[in-house]
Amino acid sequence: MKIAILPGDGIGPEIMAEAVKVLNVLDLSFETETAPVGGAAYEAAGHPLPESTLNLAKAADAILFGAVGDWKYDTLDRPLRPEQAILGLRKHLGLFANFRPAICYEQLTHASSLKPELVAGLDILIIRELTGDIYFGQPRGRRTAVDGHFPGAEEAFDTMRYSRPEIERIAHVAFQAARKRSKKVTSVDKANVLETFQFWKDIVTEVHQQYPDVELQHMYVDNAAMQLVKAPKAFDVVVTGNMFGDILSDEAAMLTGSIGMLPSASLDKANKGLYEPSHGSAPDIAGKGVANPLATILSVAMMLRYSLNQPEAAARIESAVQAVLSAGLRTGDIWSEGMQKVGTAAMGDAVVAAITCKTIPTITKS
Ligand code: NAD
Repeated sequence: MKIAILPGDGIGPEIMAEAVKVLNVLDLSFETETAPVGGAAYEAAGHPLPESTLNLAKAADAILFGAVGDWKYDTLDRPLRPEQAILGLRKHLGLFANFRPAICYEQLTHASSLKPELVAGLDILIIRELTGDIYFGQPRGRRTAVDGHFPGAEEAFDTMRYSRPEIERIAHVAFQAARKRSKKVTSVDKANVLETFQFWKDIVTEVHQQYPDVELQHMYVDNAAMQLVKAPKAFDVVVTGNMFGDILSDEAAMLTGSIGMLPSASLDKANKGLYEPSHGSAPDIAGKGVANPLATILSVAMMLRYSLNQPEAAARIESAVQAVLSAGLRTGDIWSEGMQKVGTAAMGDAVVAAITCKTIPTITKS
């Protein structure tokens, strides 16, 4: 097994160091190779996704990705900005299916911005299509308007588009995932306004005929945004397009207490995947040693389960995370009164201790 390690920018290297610590105590045989990506790669090689990094990602069995981006790169031409590395990896590796589980651990119900009774036991899976939609659709750009409300004015435009095979394959992924859970899929669209999403709805409905054992519900995205904070436990598998999925998965993140807890997997058709926390590079806290590494550590668990066929090792990590939370350890983003605040490295060390059955430091009363 070869794992490509791409730490990236901001808190990326800090959280990745903890994920690698955890990976190294699992007694698995694998090889790792680290390469720069994002702003770090732009500094080192003049491009956010240098060919050597892309080749490593292509050759590896799985990719562990930290985060990219920093405000200081906002003035670069768009193709040179750090975030282009993620889009490039998704495109070149055909990573079309993004899995974002949103699980509210019992120990963290009070860290959620919603009432504990609304989120206790929450376990939903957002499946976001990742290589189509308005993020990739051409044409896009700036021009002088020839029609519209202000002909002759400067305007910008993007193109929302989905092809039949793109929708069919993500719909299959969602129905198959639902079969392993509670057999319920909510397809989120905006069919009342957008032609692209009427097409989406029609095709999801067609594909559903092959999965009569799975319940299918359609929901407009504005209603889905509302229902996610009103009754989130009513959802199980949610499947949606690239842009709606981007937004709804961040909303779902907050139900769980912090985006610092949420792992994600982006898979190709053979289940090769890129695994990363759902959050960004958090430049506001980078270098301070306070970032929550658990989303990245839980991404390692997803990688072991989905791409590397090591479900037992995945379960060891997940149990260790639960044990650490039960012991009362919290990084700042999930901290509450009475809990012990720890930094990034101490949180990683505690997970390692839980995996290797050493004593986890517990709350010290002052
Ligand atoms: P962000 O996710 O980086 O941060 C949002 C907020 O959450 C910040 O207050 C941050 O401190 C906090 N946060 C994020 N991760 C945390 C963690 N592990 N522990 C504790 N707190 C955490 O989003 P943003 O501020 O909108 O974007 C910052 C940069 O990240 C931008 O350059 C953006 O383009 C980039 N970005 C990258 C990715 C990616 O690499 N996949 C995803 C989203 C944003």
